[in-house]
Amino acid sequence: MIPVIITGYFRCFDIFHIILLYQVYHRKSEEKMQLFSVIDRQMLGRLYANNLKGVLYEVNEKFVNETHSQVPVCGESDLLVIGGGIAGVAAALAASRNNKKVTLIEKSIILGGLATLGHVCIYLPLCDGLGHKIYGGIAEELLYTTIKYGYSNVPDGWEYGVKTVEKPAGRYQTHFNIPACVMAFDELMAENNVEVIFDTVFCAPIMDGNVCKGVIVENKSGRSAYIAKMVIDASGDADVMFRAGAPCIEQKSIVSHWAYELDFETMKKGIESGDIINTIGLRWIGLRPDADNSQSEIPRFYGTTSDGVNAYIRFSRTLALDFLKKNRRSDYTMLSLPTMPQFRTTRRIKGQKELSLVPGLHLDDSVGCVINCLDSPAAVYEFPYGALIDGNITNIITAGRIVAADGAGWEIMRYIPGCAFTGQVAGTAAAMSIDAGCTLQNVDVAELQEKLTDSGVLIHMGEDLRDNEGKAAYAEPTKQFDPLIKLDSLCYPTSH
Ligand SMILES: Cc1cc2nc3c(=O)[nH]c(=O)nc-3n(C[C@H](O)[C@H](O)[C@H](O)COP(=O)(O)OP(=O)(O)OC[C@H]3O[C@@H](n4cnc5c(N)ncnc54)[C@H](O)[C@@H]3O)c2cc1C
Repeated sequence: MIPVIITGYFRCFDIFHIILLYQVYHRKSEEKMQLFSVIDRQMLGRLYANNLKGVLYEVNEKFVNETHSQVPVCGESDLLVIGGGIAGVAAALAASRNNKKVTLIEKSIILGGLATLGHVCIYLPLCDGLGHKIYGGIAEELLYTTIKYGYSNVPDGWEYGVKTVEKPAGRYQTHFNIPACVMAFDELMAENNVEVIFDTVFCAPIMDGNVCKGVIVENKSGRSAYIAKMVIDASGDADVMFRAGAPCIEQKSIVSHWAYELDFETMKKGIESGDIINTIGLRWIGLRPDADNSQSEIPRFYGTTSDGVNAYIRFSRTLALDFLKKNRRSDYTMLSLPTMPQFRTTRRIKGQKELSLVPGLHLDDSVGCVINCLDSPAAVYEFPYGALIDGNITNIITAGRIVAADGAGWEIMRYIPGCAFTGQVAGTAAAMSIDAGCTLQNVDVAELQEKLTDSGVLIHMGEDLRDNEGKAAYAEPTKQFDPLIKLDSLCYPTSH
């Protein structure tokens, strides 16, 4: 009877149910589960059981009602960052540098998200293709973190801290080595006192009206809670905002499978060049040569449902296997598989404001300038603070590929430099909100702009950047070709 009383749910129990529940309650946990499944099969519906963790289940034909009588609090901090991709790393760094105790929850065992787990190892340009650096601050710092212990191919002319370069050898971007990047991120987080909790999945925000008191997580130790004053959603899929009830927008994503490979021909050329970076190939499977799959016949998938994720993975791996079958040779090997589904844009917040793609437009509440990294020259846009927050939820802020930007704007905000930029803004604004004891909606944007400027973020564009589009670029757009990338021409229709 005890579990029934604890839950506070009363149903019409007959004496047979009560005897069985009594038996369940007094068995060891494995026996309980066995017995429960027997009971379950015999009498679907109107049943409660209890396991050792105090979780109560009511099994019906279509649902299992779950009641947790007690979830232990495992940690308390000023600020929780959910997701350790580029955006989460940048957000945690910014908040910690603003004197906040930060805990970062990451479901995998590796920082970097798509950039590392997803094998997206190209830090796209920080510059506009005309020699002007657009992304400074933590976006620039993280570029150098990715290459701190590994190879790089930042073109001559560009170096940390410069604002403009006349006739550089190329765009301010680099390839980076994934293991070296991951360990440099670990080091960066440790140096900045960010507590990283790996192998832990965010499950639900603990909401009290419009205020988030913390989050429920699951990991090897079971289910637990982390309490905080402020939460940064850097989950890549707006999981926190969505589950907190914020209006969100979802879309299907194209398939593009990235993997490392080795082949003798590339290796020979690499060895001649004397630089290891040229010996390793990066293969794109499923993506067209112009990096635009908008007309492709390859299906698209939702990244916000289990079915969508699984269908995506099956399809993407089938393409990769097709390629492997056609390339079973003694001079070729695939080296790796991505360990995170390579979705580009899945779900984003609707936001209090949205990025507007009017080139040259001045915004009083701009928190930084952004560009489409693939364009050269790239038009410059000012990004409004309100595109990081929801209109109602007072203490959850977003960072990364989930901020409020539509269509081509969403594309712009998903690239690594943009994710690092929004991470920095989110971390700084969240810390300010704690200090001021105000909601995220009431953060002093002028003070935020000042703090960001001090750390190298370009808040407003000058006249020199206003009409970028009409100018002649020194470099080709990034999507037209990087010699380290190889495409599998077999995997998209040749008619396109
Ligand atoms: C195929 C492909 C190619 C791309 N090419 C480039 C490129 O060349 N250059 C470039 O600059 N950009 C590129 N991008 C875009 C860029 O890589 C990503 O958009 C960017 O890295 C996203 O960063 P993020 O931190 O916002 O999200 P993510 O990288 O998705 O990070 C989210 C993190 O949150 C974690 N997480 C998710 N859910 C939970 C949960 N419930 N609990 C705990 N943790 C959770 C994930 O494990 C992950 O670590 C590409 C993207 C794709 C898919």
